[in-house]
Amino acid sequence: MFQTVTKIELRLTAQAIISRVRSKWGRPRHLGTTLQNTLKSFVRFTGNGLHSGKPVHMVVRPASADYGIWFRRTDVLIGDTMVQARWDQVEQTQLCTRIVNAAGVSVSTIEHVMAALAGCGIHNALVEIDGPEVPILDGSSADFVQAFLRTGLISQNQAVRAIEILKPVSVVRGDARAELTPASEMHIDFHIDFNDEAIGQQTKGLTLANGSFVRELCDSRTFCSQSDVETMQANGLALGGDPAENAVVFDGDKILSPGGLRHTDEPVRHKMLDAVGDLYLAGAPILGRYSGDRAGHSLTNALLRELFADPDAWRFVECTPSMAARLPGAGVHLAEFPAVA
Ligand SMILES: [Zn+2]
Repeated sequence: MFQTVTKIELRLTAQAIISRVRSKWGRPRHLGTTLQNTLKSFVRFTGNGLHSGKPVHMVVRPASADYGIWFRRTDVLIGDTMVQARWDQVEQTQLCTRIVNAAGVSVSTIEHVMAALAGCGIHNALVEIDGPEVPILDGSSADFVQAFLRTGLISQNQAVRAIEILKPVSVVRGDARAELTPASEMHIDFHIDFNDEAIGQQTKGLTLANGSFVRELCDSRTFCSQSDVETMQANGLALGGDPAENAVVFDGDKILSPGGLRHTDEPVRHKMLDAVGDLYLAGAPILGRYSGDRAGHSLTNALLRELFADPDAWRFVECTPSMAARLPGAGVHLAEFPAVA
């Protein structure tokens, strides 16, 4: 028996078939969402590790959608050489962020390249490195950012997923505190208080969207007190530290680094840069407000562990174009790069 098929039904059937075909091939499935990015091609870096002082070669390569950020130790020839840049791979350290896999293979001082990847909106990359520590370069994220933006990005075939903060989560350790609270955009507030008069107390807040990471944070260098340098070097650390090349060194009310500061509040800006890098170990951009008071790498990692221990505190959301415009990597252009001192 013949059934009567109306024009409307025919149109609906055709739409269902087209939708299924499009879904299989992917592309139109994410209309209305913002797509992930990777690099157009690989980028090379050469320099010394801050703590080891040893030369290292690093190549940041494009990676497929949903890959995330991984490191591969090319100098390790046996066993598992891959280490995922994720919060639960972080080994507790005070001076830098170190990730380690189950085989004990590690990569240290990843925070500045992670900040550059987050700040440029790069969601997928494989970082190959022939030593245990990322090169310190000038002590900031500037060289990474410039190289990434010069190389350029390509959009991929999957939507950006962000981590939306649903309720406040905080960690306190002595007089240090770090907190994540719900917010419609990625925002960072930071406060520091150092004994060296040349640093003292500094406070800054910044919404990380529309290129603000590149304009405001990416060129701020790592810093320390002269007394810390002596202690670290006595313990075999900061062997690659050089106040003329890759760190701002303070001694009381003096700045020992030739050329002085790039910003009057460069230290708090660098702490915010570190936080951007450490928060990217969440595995996706965060839609929420981070507040750090004298916080460091270890406390920010403890905060992520606290967050992910509570399934009611966060959720994944696919980013619409309007949401993605509020993420750290939105709208970044090389033209916005600051004139580095
Ligand atoms: Zn740092």
